[in-house]
Amino acid sequence: MASNNKIETFHITTFGCQMNLADTSTLAATLTTRGYRRVPSEAEADLLIFNTCSVRERAEQRVLGRLGEISGLKRTKPHMKIAVVGCMAQRLGAELREQAPHVDYILGTDRVFELPDVVEGIEGTDSVMTAFGHENMDLITPVKETPHSGFITISRGCDNYCTYCIVPYVRGRERSHSVDYIVDGVKKMVDEGVVEITLLGQNVNSYLYEKTDFSDLLARVAHETAIERIRFMTSHPKDLSHKLVDVMADEPKLMRHLHLPMQAGSDRILRRMGRVYSIEHYLDTVAYIRKKLDYVALTTDLIVGFPSETDEEYRQTLNAVREIQFDSAFMFRYSERPGTKAASFDDDVPEKEKIDRLNRLIALQQEISLKRNQREVERVCHTIVEGESRRSNEFYRGRTEGNKTVLFETDRDCTGEVLPVRIKSADSFTLHGDIVEAG
Ligand code: SF4
Repeated sequence: MASNNKIETFHITTFGCQMNLADTSTLAATLTTRGYRRVPSEAEADLLIFNTCSVRERAEQRVLGRLGEISGLKRTKPHMKIAVVGCMAQRLGAELREQAPHVDYILGTDRVFELPDVVEGIEGTDSVMTAFGHENMDLITPVKETPHSGFITISRGCDNYCTYCIVPYVRGRERSHSVDYIVDGVKKMVDEGVVEITLLGQNVNSYLYEKTDFSDLLARVAHETAIERIRFMTSHPKDLSHKLVDVMADEPKLMRHLHLPMQAGSDRILRRMGRVYSIEHYLDTVAYIRKKLDYVALTTDLIVGFPSETDEEYRQTLNAVREIQFDSAFMFRYSERPGTKAASFDDDVPEKEKIDRLNRLIALQQEISLKRNQREVERVCHTIVEGESRRSNEFYRGRTEGNKTVLFETDRDCTGEVLPVRIKSADSFTLHGDIVEAG
C-alpha cells in the first residue's frame, strides 16, 4: 500500500492472446525495474492495469464489466490509478472514458511500455496516447513467462486485413524485430533457466529482417542458442513455406506442432474473408506437412456463420475438417467487429443458425480430437512439466511436443523438467500417462 498516496504497487490483469501475456511480463519487468512492486491482488495495488484484447466483442465487454466493478474501489482509494493498455485502448482511445470515466491512463498498443513515464508525468507524455510509431521495438526487453518457458514476440502488427479482423487496425503495420534481438533474448532466457521458447507474431511466416526470413530465423535460434525446445505461432496458410516445413523436419529442437488457421472450407467464403488462399492450397500444405514430418499435431481456427455462408458452404467446412483430421480447433461463430470490412457486410446468418452450425462443428471436432489423441496411446512423449494439475494435486501437468496436455503421477516436484511420458489413455482434451523411468 502506498504511503503519502504515492504509486508504489501495481496489479496487471491480462485479456486475450499470448502476445498480450508476453507484453504483460515485459511491462511488469519494466515497472519493477523502475521501483514499483507487483502485488497479487487488486485491493493491494495503487496502480491497476488492464492489458486488453479487441478481437471479440466479449473480450471488450469483460474489460468494461471489470472497470465497472472497480469504480467503487476507486472511490474508497482516491489515489489509486487505473490504466487500460493494449488493443482496446488503441481502438477506443479517449472514447473509452465515455463508458469508464474513472480510467486515468489509456495507452495504445505502441505505447504500452511508456506507462511508467506516464505515471511519473514525464514531459512529453499524456494520459491518452494511441499514436503508432513510438515504440522502439528492440528496446522492449523480452521476459520469461514462467521459470522454464518464455515468449518472444518476433514481429508486431499485421498487414493482412482479413475482413473480419480488427488486429491490423489496433496493432498497426507489420514490423519485425531484429535477428540479434531475438537470438540474444533467447540466450538471456536460457541463462535464466528457460527450456522452451515460443516465438510469437500475428503471422510469423511473413517475418523478414533484412534478408533473414522466418525459416532462417528458426535455424539461427536453434543453432546459436542452447534452448531445448522451440515453438511458434501463428502461421498463415498463404505464407507457410515448404522451406519452413523442411527446417522443422531437420531440426529436433522444433516442436511438432503447427497451428494453421483454416477459418473456412469454402473458397468463396475464404475470398470474402480476405484469406488469400484456396482450400486446395490449404489441403496441399497439410499434405506436404504430413509427408515431411513423421509426427505432427495440427491445430486450427474456424469461423462458422460468416455473412452469406450457405448451408452448402458450411458443409464444405465440415468436409474439410473431416478430411484433414485436426488434433484440435478453436471454433467460433461469426460476430461483427465494428471498424472491420466485414462489418459492412449483411450479417445475414440468423444467430440460432450460427449456434446450431457451431455446435455441430464442435461435436465433429471432439470426435476427431478423441481419435487423434487415442493414436498417442503407447507413444512416449517428451513432455515439459508445467506444474501440478490445475484440477487435482494428485497429478502433474505437462505439454507434449505436439502441445497436448498430459497428466501423470509423480512423487516429486519435477516442474520445468523435460521427461519421457508413455501415454496410457486419452480423451478429447487430455492425455494420461506414466513417466518412463530410466534404466
Ligand atoms: S492474419 Fe488475418 S486474422 Fe490474423 S491477425 Fe492478421 S488480419 Fe487478423
